[in-house]
Amino acid sequence: MKCALVTGGSRGIGRAICAKMAAMGYYVLINYKTNTAEAEKTLQLVQDNGGEGELLQFDVADKEQIKDVLDGWMNANEAKDIEVLVNNAGIRDDSLMVWLKDEQWDSVIKTSLDSFFYVTRLVLEDMMLNRYGRIINVVSLSGIKGMPGQTNYSAAKAGVIGATKALAQEVGRSGITVNAVAPGFIKTDMTEILDEKELKRSIPVNRFGLPEEVAHAVGFLASKEAGYITGEVLSINGGLYT
Ligand code: NAP
Repeated sequence: MKCALVTGGSRGIGRAICAKMAAMGYYVLINYKTNTAEAEKTLQLVQDNGGEGELLQFDVADKEQIKDVLDGWMNANEAKDIEVLVNNAGIRDDSLMVWLKDEQWDSVIKTSLDSFFYVTRLVLEDMMLNRYGRIINVVSLSGIKGMPGQTNYSAAKAGVIGATKALAQEVGRSGITVNAVAPGFIKTDMTEILDEKELKRSIPVNRFGLPEEVAHAVGFLASKEAGYITGEVLSINGGLYT
């Protein structure tokens, strides 16, 4: 059975990606940190899309939990191959750097950058043995241009972009592609407190994006037909580059 693992699949962009993976025929592993009720809604959406899946609760910022839960699942499910990995889980905790606390730096870096390393390294070995895999990392416009008030978040996402490009070169011969998508402003809980009316004026398409629009791009990069695209960062930002 072919599986897609989506970290942070309980809400927002991750939920839309889970639905897309289900529509593509994957058994969907829905990772989340705490919000079981929302994760169950994602599972229902997966089933509504004609798919199957299960919840896999672990904190991607905690390498011990990744090892216990994800490695444990892989050992217990040897007939199931994770063919697609979407490193989507992420948080923001903004502050101007002069006031940024140690914990704000650590939690944001751990949730996006460390998790990329610990989750991907675990999943990579089987992909290499199977000589096929699709890894898609959800980064951000902040990681490309840098955003004031987000030195932690920009650094985490820029780090993942560098790692995406490096890993793509390591595993291309094994039939594995590694790409990133870089959303701009997308309507989710993460952007709920932002003033869309004010901010959309700076966006050429004149609106925030939808999670499904990010999921569509992830689905494309996860497809077999995208096998000659690797090490790429695809912006999904309504034209907001600068
Ligand atoms: P969201 O609505 O806040 O959802 C975050 C998801 O990540 C939830 O499923 C949450 O699980 C999960 N999560 C957070 N910390 C986790 C952890 N330590 N371990 C496991 N799961 C964790 O966020 P979103 O807007 O969909 O963002 C998804 C990704 O897109 C993030 O990487 C974000 O940085 C990136 N992004 C978003 C935007 C945007 O405008 N929304 C723009 C650029 C990039 P629980 O439900 O259990 O909390």
